Amino acid sequence: TLQHKHIIKWFELASLTLRENKDYLTKLDSEIGDADHGFNMERGFNKVHNKLEEFSLNTDLGAIFKNMGMTLISSIGGASGPLYGTFFLQFGMAIVTKTELSLQDFVTAFEKGVNGVKLRGRASVGDKTMIDVLAPVADRLKESLSENNTFEKVFSDIVKSAEKSMKSTVPLIAKKGRASYLGARSVGHQDAGATSSYLILKSLKEAIE
Ligand code: ADP
Ligand code: MG
Ligand code: MG
Repeated sequence: TLQHKHIIKWFELASLTLRENKDYLTKLDSEIGDADHGFNMERGFNKVHNKLEEFSLNTDLGAIFKNMGMTLISSIGGASGPLYGTFFLQFGMAIVTKTELSLQDFVTAFEKGVNGVKLRGRASVGDKTMIDVLAPVADRLKESLSENNTFEKVFSDIVKSAEKSMKSTVPLIAKKGRASYLGARSVGHQDAGATSSYLILKSLKEAIE
């Protein structure tokens, strides 16, 4: 199972990774957006990092995820705040009062999170957003349920899938968010939000190693 300590580690590693990649994310967002994605993610996840001690004293994973989501919503100024916030909030709603997660729990919650992002942002796969990474990962996770694999194997698979999906945003025309204002000029650039989603998933894989 995925335990409380793994979730704390995940949020910790995600905070560190997003901080390390602040300039990279900002550079990507400067090409087809407003050059603040690195700042936005660092700010939101710094607030999460500040709550790690509080989270480590709370065994209710549902409550931790909901708190995490609210923290992102209230601290990130850009579109990514409510979107990532909704992801973690919906994830939390699916695991209320659980203290550890089976793969089934994780998959169900992840899907609920992705559906929340889709409802909120109305993006579909191919629109050159974080959904290009998150939705195929949700599909891959569902498939993994019948394969009897360990969390290690499943997370390693989804990180590979996420990396491919992230790179696949390069040739796309943005259909949602600020980059969509550029139309065809958004072609040839990797989406910043797809990149932060990949980094967050990579942290999840590293959290259980
Ligand atoms: P803003 O665009 O408000 O400055 P950010 O720069 O923090 O916010 O985040 C931009 C990222 O948010 C994009 O790269 C994209 O992945 C994601 N995004 C924007 N709009 C949507 C949407 N409607 N649905 C899903 N993701 C979106
Ligand atoms: Mg931006
Ligand atoms: Mg902005």
